[in-house]
Amino acid sequence: MLTDEFGREVTGVRVSLTDRCNFDCVYCHNEGLGDTRGPMDPQDDEMSTDDVVRFLEVAAEFGVDAVKFTGGEPMLRQDLAEIIERTPDRMEISLTTNGTFLPGRAEELVDAGLERVNVSQDALDPADFAAVTKSGAYEKVLEGVEAALDAGLDPVKLNMVVFEHTAGYVPEMVDHVADNDGLQLQLIEYMPELTGKPEWNIDIQRVHDWLAERATEIEHREMHDRKRYWVGGSKAHDGSSNSSGMVEIVDPVENPTFCANCHRVRVTHEGYLKGCLNRNDDLKSMGEMTKPEIREAFRDTVADRVPYYGEYMVQNDDGQWEINEKYIEEYAGA
Ligand code: SAM
Repeated sequence: MLTDEFGREVTGVRVSLTDRCNFDCVYCHNEGLGDTRGPMDPQDDEMSTDDVVRFLEVAAEFGVDAVKFTGGEPMLRQDLAEIIERTPDRMEISLTTNGTFLPGRAEELVDAGLERVNVSQDALDPADFAAVTKSGAYEKVLEGVEAALDAGLDPVKLNMVVFEHTAGYVPEMVDHVADNDGLQLQLIEYMPELTGKPEWNIDIQRVHDWLAERATEIEHREMHDRKRYWVGGSKAHDGSSNSSGMVEIVDPVENPTFCANCHRVRVTHEGYLKGCLNRNDDLKSMGEMTKPEIREAFRDTVADRVPYYGEYMVQNDDGQWEINEKYIEEYAGA
């Protein structure tokens, strides 16, 4: 296993398979690359099936034991089942999707080896949903969630980005997962770092406080610095996360503890290694690389990883976050 200078082992990879998307969510960071709007057809700049598999084989050699496929909308890739099928056995395979293509395809993906799925669902009302995602496909998303459950992907985690537009929908989303077996909710704090619009930020502590009052049980997962709340249901006896009513908050913004516990390397759809979601100044292209070259590039990416908050960004005397002088000098001299 590779460990960076800050003692963080790299145990997972998050691979963007395309930056095409059939939605246009107003908050989307597109895995750190900005706009997802553009043509829907396969693009020449996307990694081929073989490119993705070659990278995953190298990552597996380094002990990486989990991969999450994302995008853009990863289900726009017609070779997704093949990629999953060819992913090294040692890796747990998960997918983040908007859910619209799960009906009719969920079973194929599970048969290929998909183990977990997150479906983005930011609202329970079709009009509210359309306002956030710029898509009218609400019913398809619900069908997608059902299809995932029917295919045996239990629990299905619903991802909801919490920001100015959606904060008011949190209570109904919490009730929704408490009332429906097999669903869990991941509340993701809106990250403005790559999208701008910091005015959309909300005070995530208020969501923590509200959930703490409602919860029958609270768990703090040290590894990711994430809190889990059990609401309306009860935690399974074996301590697993399988019970209904589980709500998790992911709150990375200005959170050095979160960054200190980041164990992931990312890959863009064009095949660039990326050490941090919030940075695009450390990208390394895998292009036409051979496996030995990819090994080297992966080692270098891990070696260059820096916790974003707390190290790359530090707080000044006024409490404002700014780039650590050390890194400004480093890049100026590069
Ligand atoms: N199309 C897929 C989907 O809808 O889940 C995968 C791509 S999407 C970029 C992956 C995840 O990033 C989604 O769960 C989304 O909620 C989250 N996300 C996107 N922009 C975000 C932002 N500005 N702040 C926090 N989370 C964000």
